[in-house]
Amino acid sequence: MQTSSPDIVFACAHCSTSLVVDAAAAGMTLDCQKCGKPTTVPAGSIDAAADNAVRISDLQHQLKENASQRTEITSYINQLSIQLHRWQLRLQSLNERQEKLEAELAGLSRG
Ligand SMILES: [Zn+2]
Repeated sequence: MQTSSPDIVFACAHCSTSLVVDAAAAGMTLDCQKCGKPTTVPAGSIDAAADNAVRISDLQHQLKENASQRTEITSYINQLSIQLHRWQLRLQSLNERQEKLEAELAGLSRG
């Protein structure tokens, strides 16, 4: 760990502005430089803040990845729905043809 007192980076509880204060202010309640409302400086949060930033970036990455997979799968479903509809039409016309052929065969067999 650093020997000099490190700064603490944290977000204002009201406006989420990133605030930087001296580590000595840990646990104190200060007025936000942006919105002026009192916000509490988290204690010993230099590691927590860094962990948080990593976690936030990781979550944002996962969300992005998830969204692109959703788009991909939705596109597959759309394509296959169209294909399914075509197959259904094709099956319907094959059924009609079968009935016609069977009717013709039955007519000839009787004659
Ligand atoms: Zn604020």
